[in-house]
Amino acid sequence: MQKGLKIPQGGPENRRFVLGIDIGGTGIKTGFVDTDGEVTRFRTLPTEGARGREALLDKICGIADAAAAASAAEGFELLGIGIGTAGFVDSQGRIAYATEILPGWTGTDLRGAVAERTGLDTAVLNDVHAIALGELWRGAGAKRGLRSFVCAALGTGIGGCIVEDGRIYGGRGGYAGGFGHMTVAQGGPVCSCGQRGCWEMYASVSALKRLIRERAEAAAAAAWERDPRLLFEAARAGDRDALGIVDHYAQMIAIGLVNLAHTLNCGDFVLGGAITRQGDFLLGRVEREMVRRLMPVYRAGGIGLHAAELGERAGVIGAAYALLETPGAPQ
Ligand SMILES: [Zn+2]
Repeated sequence: MQKGLKIPQGGPENRRFVLGIDIGGTGIKTGFVDTDGEVTRFRTLPTEGARGREALLDKICGIADAAAAASAAEGFELLGIGIGTAGFVDSQGRIAYATEILPGWTGTDLRGAVAERTGLDTAVLNDVHAIALGELWRGAGAKRGLRSFVCAALGTGIGGCIVEDGRIYGGRGGYAGGFGHMTVAQGGPVCSCGQRGCWEMYASVSALKRLIRERAEAAAAAAWERDPRLLFEAARAGDRDALGIVDHYAQMIAIGLVNLAHTLNCGDFVLGGAITRQGDFLLGRVEREMVRRLMPVYRAGGIGLHAAELGERAGVIGAAYALLETPGAPQ
């Protein structure tokens, strides 16, 4: 455990914490989350997924053991562990499927293994489901009083989550939210799922980079692809190529969100990923395209596009919330 950072010394209610863990392809984020959703001792470790399942399980349990030792030494109560992880997670906390970013992770009974090895109450859910719960509890959802929204995280791919009346809608088995693999085109590049035409091949950040390669002049393309913020800078300055790319990208984001709005009749969307820091310059374009495409009955109540607000801490906070919200969990 990181030394030198004291757990806050408030009343007894502030001396109860959940260990939040967010397992991504490259980094594991952890922190102690109190019952108000405040995070202390937030840190990131390398995932080193290539070392395989046992090494990763050992690392997770090691983080949990260190947290339990800190709780005993410092006299605060550790309520349990909440874990968000890349991959499809079933309602029992097992990894139903994970890509080769985490080799061997598919089939792991993560909740069972961590609970058994640490003796602590454990909740496990998909990483974007955790982000959505974090935003519900302490982020964009909490700020606006949203109880129902759709969350889509735009990154290498697109992860998703449906929140209905303050709870995750999981569908059969718990995997609802695979928005990235909605078919929005025929043909096109092959997706990680093996199909063509998936939304994430057009609206993820990886897709934006491909669009830059295809559409921008070589000199600009190299810089914009390396750092898409430079694309947006150029677009804001009026560069026609850059504006064309941003407009097209916004349309592709809108197409997926319109499909979701027509299917779910949802009005509020929380969008995660660093790209959403472009704010209204991007989200305003997406919203205008959505309004243009939506049937009037689905846009009559208004469309709210909200950038996620918790950044890299959202998954840790939301995973802790999942543990607190699990039936029978300590309140
Ligand atoms: Zn796909």
